[in-house]
Amino acid sequence: MKPASDRAEFAAREASEPKKLFIKSFGCQMNVYDATRMADVLAPEGYEETAQIEQADLIVLNTCHIREKAAEKVFSELGKLRQLKEERQARGQSTRIAVAGCVAQAEGSEILRKQRAVDLVVGPQNYHRLPDLVRESVSQPVVDTEFPVEDKFDHLTAPSDEKIRERGVSAFLTVQEGCDKFCTFCVVPYTRGAEISRPAAKIVAEAEVLARAGVREITLLGQNVDAYHGMGEDGAIWSLARLLRRLAQVEGILRLRFTTSHPNDMTDDLIEAFADLPALMPFLHLPVQSGSDAILQAMNRRHSAQDYVRLIEKIRRARPDLALSSDFIVGFPGETDADFQATLDLISEVRFASSFSFKYSPRPGTPGAELPDQIDEAIKTERLYRLQELVERQRQQFNASLVGQITPVLFEKPGRHEGQVAGKSPYLQPVQVDGRVELIGRQVPVEIVRCGSNSLFGRLVDPGSEGAA
Ligand code: SAM
Ligand code: SF4
Repeated sequence: MKPASDRAEFAAREASEPKKLFIKSFGCQMNVYDATRMADVLAPEGYEETAQIEQADLIVLNTCHIREKAAEKVFSELGKLRQLKEERQARGQSTRIAVAGCVAQAEGSEILRKQRAVDLVVGPQNYHRLPDLVRESVSQPVVDTEFPVEDKFDHLTAPSDEKIRERGVSAFLTVQEGCDKFCTFCVVPYTRGAEISRPAAKIVAEAEVLARAGVREITLLGQNVDAYHGMGEDGAIWSLARLLRRLAQVEGILRLRFTTSHPNDMTDDLIEAFADLPALMPFLHLPVQSGSDAILQAMNRRHSAQDYVRLIEKIRRARPDLALSSDFIVGFPGETDADFQATLDLISEVRFASSFSFKYSPRPGTPGAELPDQIDEAIKTERLYRLQELVERQRQQFNASLVGQITPVLFEKPGRHEGQVAGKSPYLQPVQVDGRVELIGRQVPVEIVRCGSNSLFGRLVDPGSEGAA
């Protein structure tokens, strides 16, 4: 129970001055999206976002449970927050600390036991209830990790046009959540629950709100986004391809992307969409995890390395300018030198423009954690190093291959230096050009003249287009 003075002070503040909110997100893009929606749902309660954590009346840690390190970070962060809470308390300021996201879902009330400074724990399916939970937490700590019957998206507040503009011309939009695949290394099916797809009409309505406020690029999100099968506007079940075709008609939307996909759900209609939907960017994140059939089978990925290679060939035939990225796990239980070499061979054969790679992290409750033959940490480190060296070489070669080419760039923000403006290529590479900020929100052709280690540098093909509407 909180002291009565604390409750009274909080209630008084509830009713009067605006309050400050600080959200820190860990992990995937879906958490980034969820964080924006948490800010939206708290805005009508008077919570205004701040970048200064010391000023925050409510601090939300939006957590990730995918690897052990990610989960550990949360508890070290909470230790620091307890200190901050005590310092603010000494100055007569109260602070609520909320733990949201997948660690909240996985650990629930255990978090309150481990860190008493926490006031509330809320799972990824319940954050639409944040205003009530924050109020309830004034009298005692609360935990809400039940999978609710109602759809949280029906209870979220739409962001204001001003808020959308502040967030920029590129936005995320969750269309699908959860996963039924049960890869043996992965906690997602347990923390995010069973696969659900949002109805297309609601997604289209959200896209229209974003576009009217100036968003030009939308990335559709889902843990298994290419498995999307939501109720369509015509009452039929729509695939992701059908949804993309509909979203391409939303006025103002110039670019569409989707992530993250599973190879087994890359259906022919989705591949066709790459062929004939110009708004769909020629860049696909398609995790393969391993190049060894034995490891893929142990991971329950349900496809072989050859299946993946053949699939890529098919997508490339449909969209020859397609570039790829992937996720890789090294050191899955039982991975031999030959298995690891098969992964390097697959990378050499496919060639990736970028990728994410991780050492296998045994997650409690997943089948992988129970397997014999867990791999030594030093071997994982050495394999990760070798794999990252190879993919980094491929990334740099891909970046260099764009020099001398003309590519459309969607401008997003002022550049690093005065007189520069920065945007993204179709392949998500940052591009800097000399130009005016009026270009922000527009997609124009740029000739790439040079590539740095992380950015490309270019010049406007038609400098006259700068001022044009
Ligand atoms: N749904 C996607 C898929 O099918 O590949 C990815 C979801 S997961 C949030 C993102 C990535 O984290 C995975 O692709 C995998 O490479 C990595 N990952 C998941 N569990 C892991 C674990 N236990 N250890 C190391 N990496 C892991
Ligand atoms: Fe996790 Fe992706 Fe496998 Fe689902 S498909 S269990 S989210 S890695």
